[in-house]
Amino acid sequence: MPELPEVETMARDLHKRVRGRTVVGVTVHKPDVLRGATPRKLQRVLVGRRIVRVWRRAKLAVIDFDSGARVAVQPRFTGSFVVERSGRGADQYCTLHLALDDGRRLHYRDVRRLGTFQLFTPKEFEAYVSKLGPEPLEAGFTGDWLYELLQRSIRPVKPLIMDQHRLAGVGNIYASEALWRAKIDPSRSARTVSRKEAELLRDAIVSVLGESIELRGTTIRDYAEGAFADKLDAYNRAGEPCRRCGTRIVLTHAIDGRATYFCPRCQR
Ligand SMILES: [Zn+2]
Repeated sequence: MPELPEVETMARDLHKRVRGRTVVGVTVHKPDVLRGATPRKLQRVLVGRRIVRVWRRAKLAVIDFDSGARVAVQPRFTGSFVVERSGRGADQYCTLHLALDDGRRLHYRDVRRLGTFQLFTPKEFEAYVSKLGPEPLEAGFTGDWLYELLQRSIRPVKPLIMDQHRLAGVGNIYASEALWRAKIDPSRSARTVSRKEAELLRDAIVSVLGESIELRGTTIRDYAEGAFADKLDAYNRAGEPCRRCGTRIVLTHAIDGRATYFCPRCQR
């Protein structure tokens, strides 16, 4: 599932490819991915509008138009963008496309169609993102801030840092990785994390996300992109020796129903 580094990569790539282009047509094949608009409304709002920026907020790729309209794409499991000129590169998994004024098409492709393509006015967008937690790669994400967050909860630390309303962008892969780096047991009650450990966890979250963006993210199943998969220390390594202490990495679903990988010896 694309998390912050993967969506950041998708947004940066798309920005380079379509910024400045004007939408000349909208074709929707699978309306079930749409939110906030019917195909007709999407057409009415976007045709004639220029794309000014593609950027990321949390796990959303956001497309800004010159009218102030915004589209937020949440790729979830299998969503991705395809930009093509000739019809090659588009397939039955392309849910919709925006025809661009240079003859290319911007497709939203989604095999499982659990992702969404949501149209917002500026005001609706502000209301939507105001419910999300802060961005971990921005200056306000400090050890003290994280410590205060953890102190207020008795939930296990892992699902807490994955809660998009508390902290944006961290999902299952990078939560496991950051907790391994910080040597914190993912099942621990958040309130028991010390100020020093919170500082280590903050640094681990920032470093693991930053390093992954450098490598264009992680390649896990459908998200065929980056090279960070080779760098994972915990995630997807059940039964492999911990790179710090040699103990076998354990996989559990007992914490939050999701796959959690950790070292039972050096994560305390
Ligand atoms: Zn270990």
